[in-house]
Amino acid sequence: MSLNPGIVYLVGAGPGDPGLLTRRGYEVLRRADLVVYDQLANDRLLDIAPATAERVFVGKTQGKLTLPQDDMNRLLAERAGRGLTVVRLKGGDPYVFGRGAEEAEYLHAAGIPFVVIPGVTAGVGVTAYAGLPVTHRAAASAVAFVTGHEDPEAIANDRTSLDWPALARFPGTLVFYMGVTRLASICRTLVREGKPSTTPAAMVQSGTLVRQRTVIGTLDDLADRVAQAGLGPPALLVVGEVIARRPGLNWFEERPLFGRRIVVTRPAEETDRSATSLEDLGAEVLTAPTVVIRPVDDFSDVDHAITRLSEFDWLVFTSSNGVIHFLDRLLAKGLDLRALGSIGLAAIGPSTADALVSYHLRADLVPTSHRSEALAEALIGRASGKRILLARADRGRTILKDELERVAHVEQVTVYRNTDVSALPVEVANRIEAGSIDWITLTSSAITERLHALLPESARARIGREIRLASISPLTSEAAARLGWPVAAESADSTWDGLVAAIVNAEAASPTSRR
Ligand code: SAH
Repeated sequence: MSLNPGIVYLVGAGPGDPGLLTRRGYEVLRRADLVVYDQLANDRLLDIAPATAERVFVGKTQGKLTLPQDDMNRLLAERAGRGLTVVRLKGGDPYVFGRGAEEAEYLHAAGIPFVVIPGVTAGVGVTAYAGLPVTHRAAASAVAFVTGHEDPEAIANDRTSLDWPALARFPGTLVFYMGVTRLASICRTLVREGKPSTTPAAMVQSGTLVRQRTVIGTLDDLADRVAQAGLGPPALLVVGEVIARRPGLNWFEERPLFGRRIVVTRPAEETDRSATSLEDLGAEVLTAPTVVIRPVDDFSDVDHAITRLSEFDWLVFTSSNGVIHFLDRLLAKGLDLRALGSIGLAAIGPSTADALVSYHLRADLVPTSHRSEALAEALIGRASGKRILLARADRGRTILKDELERVAHVEQVTVYRNTDVSALPVEVANRIEAGSIDWITLTSSAITERLHALLPESARARIGREIRLASISPLTSEAAARLGWPVAAESADSTWDGLVAAIVNAEAASPTSRR
């Protein structure tokens, strides 16, 4: 026996949206030695576990279990027996049609401690995201979760575990799990046992995910409608009057960018925030940075500038990365914000100004139009004859320096580097080529040119046509136009939020046709 006894956590992963994992589930995942998971648990949850944790897939590939249930049970017990913290991540809730109880009973018999962390079951989570309340004072006072695993028409009455006449009489909402392939048979059986054929029925596929699809009908016609729409597992069948409430409750599918597939080409450091703002509107976001931001190889110029800060009147930033790299270096040298003294701070736009705010600094000057020309003009008015320090990337436009030099003493210091990536992520390249992308965002001329260079001709040809482009500024749009790519949406104010708004407006005016 190990001195440090291991344990198995049976954790409900929720129905798909990674945000539906419980806080307790998150805490144990963060310190797992081994994570055992299947296809119903969102892959993204695996990132919560330490990089060193072992990850074992035990779900189905092509309809077959990769690891039989007995072997999986033994794996859990054996690893926990060795003193490891084992997380068994199960889609939805571990005890709702998940064989979680069988796993727990096995562990109990083997003398292995276990803990169950419930999850949001599909019957509650998927329905909520599909605008289908499982109960409603006016429409259903009870709900039943039912397995759709058995084909009621193929199984002899004495062998079925379900009481179909009782289900047909059930005074409330019926939610069937695992029922896609037996959908027609389930609907017919309910009608045969006395449920009106006009009873509303719905099927929801891949609920709570960006690819969620919902088909609404009645017991009479749902199976045909589902077949026509081509829905497949995982899907939930919902039967009952609550379905009539959907028009006022369909918040998830009615978000402005629901189901739109958008490629974000910003540098990795910026993609998280950018991705979230699109995901919050319902989009599926794929990230494909074309440029990587790196610190400079040699800090001597930056360090020299930092020691001479008091010689300057203005410190000018043209990107949030500039702010971050400059100030992080200042702090890393053991200095603090007092090293800035009374220097004036200029930022090219709101996100650069926001980066300053995150260091408790307020920009003294932010031009209303966020481009170098406007920044130069605003500074010329205030910094004539003064000494200006420009903190910038190793490449980019020189117009700011050129303009300011006419009236002021200007020095530049390179505080970070842009390096090109050598290839796009394979999935993104494939999906652009296949045309299964709706939008690509372009946030600078350099990124636009780089993206063009990284794509094969066959993929380039789709862009600007089936795949629409959203640009952050007129300059970026011009760069795209030079490459033969027309832009379908342009930010009105050269900010990321403006770009997102432009996509929303373009979708409202001319929606991407859905699949
Ligand atoms: N333990 C899980 C259910 C496992 S059985 C839970 O509590 O949710 C698997 C069935 O769950 C699927 O066949 C499907 O009917 C349903 N299901 C799980 N996730 C789903 C999803 N995201 N969308 C629709 N149905 C889902």
